[in-house]
Amino acid sequence: VSQRSARATRIHSLAQLPVAAACVALVLSASGGTASARTAFLGTSDPVLTTQAQYQAEAQADSSEIAGHLGHKLGPTLKVVMNTKQLEGDSPAYTFVSDSSGGTTGPTASCETHINPTFTKEDSDYQKLALIHEVFHCYEAMDYPTVAAFQSAPAWLIEGEAEWVGATLVPTELPVWNAYLTGLNTSLFARTYDAIGFYAHMTNSGENTWGLLDKMLKAGGSAAAYNVAANKEVRLT
Ligand SMILES: [Zn+2]
Repeated sequence: VSQRSARATRIHSLAQLPVAAACVALVLSASGGTASARTAFLGTSDPVLTTQAQYQAEAQADSSEIAGHLGHKLGPTLKVVMNTKQLEGDSPAYTFVSDSSGGTTGPTASCETHINPTFTKEDSDYQKLALIHEVFHCYEAMDYPTVAAFQSAPAWLIEGEAEWVGATLVPTELPVWNAYLTGLNTSLFARTYDAIGFYAHMTNSGENTWGLLDKMLKAGGSAAAYNVAANKEVRLT
């Protein structure tokens, strides 16, 4: 537990990072996981991945699994980059998206997940969850008209959804739940990774969470996204 708790220090908000969409997954737990259905080759007791080809194959497998849940394929190209030195602070991994010109004014055309040297120091469950989290950001970027719009989207949507997806596909012990369960004064719209609790509530309430993730991102802001997720009795006016 203490080892995993240390990961809470690795939280990055999108606003802290220059190109945005750069982040690292925290380890979280969501009920109803479907780990047994995973098709990716990295198993719980498997050794860590080492080569770029292995990471690329794992990311592609993650992407296929995500596509199956969302009901659509990934549009942008997906590439895993192995950093030879630690970049973007102490994040084990982060993801950059860009338009066809390498900028931010157009729709997302490419998605690069960077693996930092510290990534391989994590256990295999964390590595699996984190890679899924990063790949899901590529899908999230598709839901915005421009890269810039994606980069400025609320973190409770971008990081909260990615964390719920990672934790749902790779259920494991997750200390960031503590931030959700004890941060009682934190608004949902001010949350980041710890918004996972909201998506867990959706799931436990019988909502088709997977089917609402894209719609929430496309809704146009926090209140509109909330109204997509909530049943009619508790919607915001
Ligand atoms: Zn993230």
